[in-house]
Amino acid sequence: METGLKDRVAIVAGSSSGIGRATALAFAAEGASVALCARRQTELDRVAQEARSCFGVQTFTQAFDVSDDADVRAFVQATHARFGRIDVCVPNAGGPPAKPFLETTMEEWERAWQLNLRSAISFAHAVLPHMRWQHWGRIVTLTSYTVKQPAPELILSNTIRAGVMGLVRSLAGQFGRDGITVNNVGPGFTATDRSRSLLEQRARNRNLPLQQIQSEVEKEIPIGRMARPEEVAATIVWLASEAAASITGQTILVDGGSYRGL
Ligand code: NAD
Repeated sequence: METGLKDRVAIVAGSSSGIGRATALAFAAEGASVALCARRQTELDRVAQEARSCFGVQTFTQAFDVSDDADVRAFVQATHARFGRIDVCVPNAGGPPAKPFLETTMEEWERAWQLNLRSAISFAHAVLPHMRWQHWGRIVTLTSYTVKQPAPELILSNTIRAGVMGLVRSLAGQFGRDGITVNNVGPGFTATDRSRSLLEQRARNRNLPLQQIQSEVEKEIPIGRMARPEEVAATIVWLASEAAASITGQTILVDGGSYRGL
């Protein structure tokens, strides 16, 4: 499929590892210049180097915490100054901790809002003027399949990410005539550092081996395994492609069939 992403400029946040890293490399494979950010400069530089050496694209990296609104805006402006345009933006970061409701603190609620909702708002606010001026843009947020089917131990994520869905649907309505689409991808269990630490936590809580917990999880997934980060990345790239120009305001799950609703 011709994605039409060659020479476009894609911002991918949280791209030093996991799904973000795979997404940055997938855009690079399409010939897009990539702007990467996360908190760890060394890891970011490693991903950028991989993108340059494997795909010959231009890269830009900056290390900061995406929950800092001023840093997000400065990064978006620096990306624009570097490449002269911003075509795609993938707001992403780690997820909030898994905890029973009564064990959560107000500080954790504040942190979850800053990390998983306010950062998406900051990115959208900073990139949309550029996209509107170009009359072309794609925003693809990354949440979780639990936006459709809340998971009991993920109350912080379940609650805060519902706000991301509201943002995506609202922006899709407001900016469609500007050639901009806004969608959301909801991964299910995907083999990354994040899922490994969630499974390790379950193993500790139940005093069972990690392998047993992983088998239990995979038994519940209709395809019988976790997704690979590259499979989630491929869906994000497709949503950013020319072929997906008529898709907006949607949540696409990449969850191996884990969501049981219609
Ligand atoms: P990951 O932990 O492997 O990677 C997260 C990335 O975000 C890393 O590059 C990390 O450095 C960066 N990051 C974390 N906090 C940041 C911050 N404050 N500022 C800047 N960068 C930050 O996670 P992943 O598995 O790739 O998950 C990506 C997203 O998908 C997360 O929101 C996660 O909750 C969600 N998700 C993951 C799974 C899964 O099974 N892996 C399932 C459902 C949803």
